[in-house]
Amino acid sequence: MQYVNSVLDLIGNTPLVRLSRTLDLPGGGGDGTAAEGGPLVLAKIEYLNPGGSVKDRIATRMIEAAEASGALQPGGTIVEPTSGNTGVGLAMVAQQKGYKCVFVCPDKVSVDKRNVLKAYGAEVVVCPTAVAPEHPDSYYNVSDRLAAQPGAWKPDQYSNPHNPRSHYETTGPEIWAQTEGRITHFVCGMGTGGTISGVGRFLKEQNSDIQVIGADPAGSVYSGGTGRPYLVEGVGEDFWPETYDRTVADRVIEVSDADSFAFTRRLAREEALLVGGSCGMAAWAARLLAQELAGTPEGVAAVIVVLLPDSGRGYLTKIFNDEWLAQYGFSSGQAHAQTVGEVL
Ligand code: PMP
Repeated sequence: MQYVNSVLDLIGNTPLVRLSRTLDLPGGGGDGTAAEGGPLVLAKIEYLNPGGSVKDRIATRMIEAAEASGALQPGGTIVEPTSGNTGVGLAMVAQQKGYKCVFVCPDKVSVDKRNVLKAYGAEVVVCPTAVAPEHPDSYYNVSDRLAAQPGAWKPDQYSNPHNPRSHYETTGPEIWAQTEGRITHFVCGMGTGGTISGVGRFLKEQNSDIQVIGADPAGSVYSGGTGRPYLVEGVGEDFWPETYDRTVADRVIEVSDADSFAFTRRLAREEALLVGGSCGMAAWAARLLAQELAGTPEGVAAVIVVLLPDSGRGYLTKIFNDEWLAQYGFSSGQAHAQTVGEVL
């Protein structure tokens, strides 16, 4: 019989899928596929983790390390101010290991996102957005108060060294083994910076010629911005997190919201990869790189791996909704049939 004892055993070992139809490489096949021998672009599909994102990896490692150090005791409570992918990973691991989980989130977080966390058995405390940070009900004060309770432990993905370490120990070695050491470029987005720092360090230790490339929303500090707002979620920062190793990236490619969203839609429509906006952003940067390398001697042997962090399911009312895109002046990048008559 083939089975695992818990979904936690299914975290990691995600596959690589070749991108072909969306690269638009010069000299590519008539159907838009990549030219033979050209840069090979491989997407690491992190939505196949059981919690639906790359963050399952850090949740497991951060919790295991806290158990080992005694910071998290049996029956303890995990408190983290998050509503996104890290929350799902923590809620899943906490439930399986018998810990309580409390997430603090601002009231602007969608009901759907809160309900995902509750579905796993976590508690969600919602704080008003319209109060000053020093107000006792503010998001910051509430999470600090909860984390100070006896038995509580705050993973803090922005400073926890086990965040980048999980990628150094799992994601990086998987990519090295899956490409049989032939990877030449690694591309990913940066939020906490855990993924790029852990994977990048591991790969450079195997072969210092491997290029590590960050993809970043225009406006974020990683690409020289001032923290000006952008719409793509989960990536880019307005401060420098401790989990980001400033020495690891050889290059950072800035990507606009418009390109991120249009390419996210293309990945779904042409590669059948229903992924999130930060995936479209990273894959757009990988495509740019492939186009630069195409036709050069270096390009023939180039193996570009791009990490796609999560699924498009969490963005159906945003990126995959034409009205939402239009509201911000973005195009879905494709013509739509508006009426039954046009469909038929
Ligand atoms: N994409 C999404 C959707 C994310 O939630 C995150 C994590 N914030 C990232 C990318 C970036 O990953 P990291 O925090 O490891 O830099």
